[in-house]
Order: sequence, then structure tokens, then C-alpha cells
Amino acid sequence: MKALVYNGPDQKDWVEKEKPSIQKPTDVIVKITKTTICGTDLHILKGDVPTVEPGRTLGHEGVGVVEKVGDAVANFKPGDPVLISCITSCGKCSNCKRQLYAHCADGGWILGHTVDGTQAEFVRIPHGDNSLYPIPEGADEEALVMLSDIMPTGLEMGVQYGGVKPGDTIAIIGAGPVGMSVLLTSQFYSPARIIMVDMDPTRLALAAEFGATDIIQVGEEDAIEKIMSLTDGQGVDVAIEAVGVPSTFDICQKIVSAGGNIANVGVHGTPVELHLEDLWIKNINISMGLVCTNTTPMLLKTLSAGKLNPAKLVTHRFKLDDILEAYSVFGNAAREKAMKVIINA
Ligand code: ZN
Ligand code: ZN
Repeated sequence: MKALVYNGPDQKDWVEKEKPSIQKPTDVIVKITKTTICGTDLHILKGDVPTVEPGRTLGHEGVGVVEKVGDAVANFKPGDPVLISCITSCGKCSNCKRQLYAHCADGGWILGHTVDGTQAEFVRIPHGDNSLYPIPEGADEEALVMLSDIMPTGLEMGVQYGGVKPGDTIAIIGAGPVGMSVLLTSQFYSPARIIMVDMDPTRLALAAEFGATDIIQVGEEDAIEKIMSLTDGQGVDVAIEAVGVPSTFDICQKIVSAGGNIANVGVHGTPVELHLEDLWIKNINISMGLVCTNTTPMLLKTLSAGKLNPAKLVTHRFKLDDILEAYSVFGNAAREKAMKVIINA
């Protein structure tokens, strides 16, 4: 079969690889029908994630059809259409028992990281019973791919950890796929005002279409000044960081109101300065973490009910054979006006 492999920093190849086979009775082999590329894959290719070894098939998102199941798999059989979660979980260890799937003793984020991932014709999913979800009948498969990672990440790390409540004023710093997922899922909780901050006018225009009440273009306007004036000097109830660099986290520290929350969603590669000298007196909370995907069943229901339409994040489509071109488009997102790319097998 063909697979997209990481061969060290700045080296990726579309190669012939052995088809995965059942290694443990809890494994499921899935034939991929749709996958995508995540910002995390670009981080890996930059060499930011040294735990990824050369030769690893990338990708942790996608949908497919069950090809084969191990003897201990109870919930799936060959032919079943499935959604692949970016988080693998056994469902039995102490962390899984409290739905902290990100920290499963035999799982967590392993796909496209420490085991071969979804940017291939076939993938082996360990602990298939707990790491795959049946696809509801008639569901839009492109929309479902957004439920592998970005939608639960936005909802859990941004909206839920941030404690977004009805009537809140929130600010989302970063209008990439995950920031957009925060924007879409925050609306489950009816915040009164959603301020979106980014450098890219195309992304901001899209954010306004998706429900942002105010948009701020960094570079043209001073984000901190503008947010403080929009909120009568109070700041926002929830400041959500969705980029992963010191300057955006810094904006969050400056715009959080007394009693508010800072929810960090971004993946950081360098230290940030924590301004305790300003924040200690403000009665705020700061949260961060890796998505647990415990909200996936709820997201599947809201998707089926038409209450969430993540398919609108898809801007480009490619064939699996053209995945290198998909990487080049996604890697130049601003120039290509790309948000999420769908790769069809
Ligand atoms: Zn991802
Ligand atoms: Zn576990």
C-alpha cells in the first residue's frame, strides 16, 4: 500500500509500505476513505516533535471502513464505516476510567506519532473498540473528518476548559482550523460576543461568516487596545489562545477580565512569560491540555441533528495519490487561502 512517511526534518515521502496487520486481539485494520493534514503534522515535519521516528506514517484524522478486526474486538465488524479518533484509548486503565483518554496508559496521541497513522491506504487502530466511532447513517463524511481532532480539541480545550457561559464575551486568538472549531462549538453555549483575532483577512472574513461578532486584524489594528475598548476597559470573560506562540499567549494575559479564564489550546514549542505580577490579583484561571475526545459522541449527535456544520471548514480536496500537493497547499495556507484539506482515498 502507499503511505506518507516522515523521514526526518523537512523530509516526507509518498512510499510503498507493507499493509498493516492485526498485532493484538484488540486491533482493528481500517481502509481509509478520507483523511486530512493537521498543523501538528507540519510541526512534526519541522522537527518539533522528536518522538516521531523516521519512517513513521503521519496522520491522526480520518474516516474509513473496517477491513479486519482482532479476536477481542466486540463493537465493530468488517464493512462497518468508522470515524477514527486522534486519541487512542483502552477504556480500561485508571485514566480512561475518568475519561482522561489523552493519558491512557496504552494510548493517548499515538497515531502518526509513535505508531503509523492515517495518511495511508490502511491503518491499524489499537484498542479499536474504544478508539473508533460508528458513523451515523447519512452523515457527511467530510464533516466527520473534522470530528477526529479539531472539533473536540476546540470544544474541550477552548470552550469547556475555558468555561464559556451564556452571555460571555470571549476572544479567540488565531483563526486557523482549531480557532474556527472553538468559534463553531462555543456557540453551543451562546456567548454574547465572540471576538476573533488573526493576521489573515481571508480567515477573518470566514470567521465573521461563522458567527464571530467582532474581527480584529493584527498588523492593521492593535488587538489589545481594540479588545479593551470593545469591552469598556473590562477585558473578556474567556481569552482563548489557538496559535501556540508567546505573542498570542501574551495577548490573552492582557485581555482577560477579573474573574475570567485563559484557555490555552495552542501547541507551544518555546517558553512563554507568565505575568504573575499582573495576574495574581485578578482571580483568573489558566487551563491547558491535550484533547481527550470524550466529547466525540456528543459532537456526532449534534452533527447528525444539523446543529454543527464543520464541513464548511473544508477549502480544498485532493486524491490520496496527490497528498504531496495537498501538503504544499496546506503548508502555504495564507497564500492558498486554505483552511482544511480533504484527501480522498
Ligand atoms: Zn491534529
Ligand atoms: Zn486507557
